[in-house]
Amino acid sequence: MDFEIAIIGGGPAGLAAGLYAARARRKTILFEGEAMGGQAATADRVANYPGFPEEISGYELTDKMEQQAQKLGLVFEHQAVTALSSENRTFTLSTAGCSYTANKVIVASGVAPQKLGVPGEAEFLGRGVSYCATCDAAFFRNKAVLVVGGGDSAVTEAIFLTRFAKSVGIVHRRDQLRATKIVQDEAKANPKISFYPNQVITALKGERVLSAAALKDVRSGAIQEVSVDGIFVYIGRVPRTEFLGGIAELTTQSYLLTDERMRTSWPGLFAAGDVRSKSLRQIVTAVSDGAIAAVEADRELASNI
Ligand SMILES: Cc1cc2nc3c(=O)[nH]c(=O)nc-3n(C[C@H](O)[C@H](O)[C@H](O)COP(=O)(O)OP(=O)(O)OC[C@H]3O[C@@H](n4cnc5c(N)ncnc54)[C@H](O)[C@@H]3O)c2cc1C
Repeated sequence: MDFEIAIIGGGPAGLAAGLYAARARRKTILFEGEAMGGQAATADRVANYPGFPEEISGYELTDKMEQQAQKLGLVFEHQAVTALSSENRTFTLSTAGCSYTANKVIVASGVAPQKLGVPGEAEFLGRGVSYCATCDAAFFRNKAVLVVGGGDSAVTEAIFLTRFAKSVGIVHRRDQLRATKIVQDEAKANPKISFYPNQVITALKGERVLSAAALKDVRSGAIQEVSVDGIFVYIGRVPRTEFLGGIAELTTQSYLLTDERMRTSWPGLFAAGDVRSKSLRQIVTAVSDGAIAAVEADRELASNI
């Protein structure tokens, strides 16, 4: 067996699981297919993670988590896991070039941004369309941008974008925002932010780069075209469970089902963080899940389960 515990995903859940597994002196590997830190690393500021009264950037917070796990001897593999299989209590994890075996696997693969699914979205990706304000805001200095969505992520990132863009419009399909009141109040007080309630995007247009978005009023059906240089999409997330190949029970929306010990329906397979079916998807709950999953995996190994 190559490893006792393998962790899929290097966001807060995976990094916390790695920290606990490494502290339990288990031979552990963590796979991350993209940038370490996951979605949390793209949060401009984290104001609700206990212990940081002055706020902290998501990147700095997850970088500290990574350093802490690394110090304890966690092995990192910067590869995406493309397939997972299990036979005779041994898991095989495949990446583009290699395969690895492990006794226990913790799935901490998080969620990916939900796409708008409108004409022009794929065409203008990286040329006006973005799913990450922290990554791309600087390209929109003195430009006009729209943010799609009405939740905390959308409104917080809209506020962040005002540091760069000349104007930020928040397009949301309901008449009220869903974001927390404190975040809404900050956005409403910002002179650069305007609101497009009861609107959905129906198409994105341009020549080589994005230059306009078509907005439809959900009540009247009226369409208006808004000139825009960039569009940031925050309309929800989809779980990243495609590589599991049906190995464990999922909800109808493809989230992994677990019990309170983070055990999935497949023996030896645990899940932690946003990828599992749960009521609150935040950094604080992701790290908690990761810790529980690693402790339970360690217990099973110790009991030879
Ligand atoms: C813009 C934004 C702002 C946010 N702000 C806050 C905030 O202020 N406070 C807060 O508490 N929460 C915030 N959140 C939510 C928070 O980031 C998430 O709840 C948290 O990151 C979930 O952690 P996770 O480890 O479960 O998943 P993720 O952070 O999604 O990490 C999963 C990781 O797994 C990797 N991965 C996926 N599939 C594979 C594979 N097959 N092989 C290898 N690696 C894989 C991904 O690349 C990713 O790095 C914010 C989210 C966003 C998008």
